[in-house]
Amino acid sequence: MVTGGTRGIGAAVAARFRAAGDEVVAVGRAECDVTDEDAVASFFAGLGPVDVLVNNAGISTSAPLARTQLADWEAQLTVNATGAFLCTRAVLPGMSSRDCGRIVTVASVAGRVGFRYTSGYTASKHAAVGLMRAVAAEVAGTGVTSNAVCPGYVRTDMTDQTVRRIEERTGRDGEAALAAMSPLGRLLEPEEVAFAVAFLAAPEAGAVNGQTLVLDGGGVQ
Ligand code: NDP
Repeated sequence: MVTGGTRGIGAAVAARFRAAGDEVVAVGRAECDVTDEDAVASFFAGLGPVDVLVNNAGISTSAPLARTQLADWEAQLTVNATGAFLCTRAVLPGMSSRDCGRIVTVASVAGRVGFRYTSGYTASKHAAVGLMRAVAAEVAGTGVTSNAVCPGYVRTDMTDQTVRRIEERTGRDGEAALAAMSPLGRLLEPEEVAFAVAFLAAPEAGAVNGQTLVLDGGGVQ
């Protein structure tokens, strides 16, 4: 089950699992708004057993802290952190009773370190990582694991918006500016994130729990 699976990283994750022969449900806002408690509960109730939950749905905005609107702060916390909480809560009892399951949260390098002009996004991704770790502590020693991938900038619609904002404000090449901010020196491709998600979701990854797998070429270690 992949939230935010209609585009970008979520679509690449869904494609990777499908190519491996897995039955994949990948949905966007229209099918299951992860911020809506009742919608999440009824969606998951209709799904049946979930082997792998990928908490991928996310939004981002950027502004210096002093110009950050409360509505933008709250929207990011609600989608990126509360959404992961609601979906995780929906699948965990079933995974625990079957003693089998994988929860993989698509966080961000902003879930590990602070970046300027992204206070709401950074706080929401730290919250998502905190949730992932708390769940990992609860399921430790069982057949369920909870982990996160933490990518740098990935070539998706979300990053396109950032590229455009940089170009409008500075006149510089936005993609080159983002690439230069990363030790990797380029954007990640969605398929590279999907590979990391598939690794954490694999049956053989049962000893990996409570971890953040950073995909930034070596900047955050
Ligand atoms: P996109 O903007 O390309 O896609 C976002 C996806 O999330 C869409 O499928 C969208 O659905 C879905 N979504 C948004 N809000 C909700 C909601 N309330 N309920 C359900 N689904 C929702 O994003 P990316 O693929 O770039 O990002 C995916 C995840 O990866 C996010 O959590 C993001 O923070 C994280 N990430 C992204 C990075 C990047 O550089 N792009 C870097 C690090 C992490 P719909 O199509 O219906 O709107």
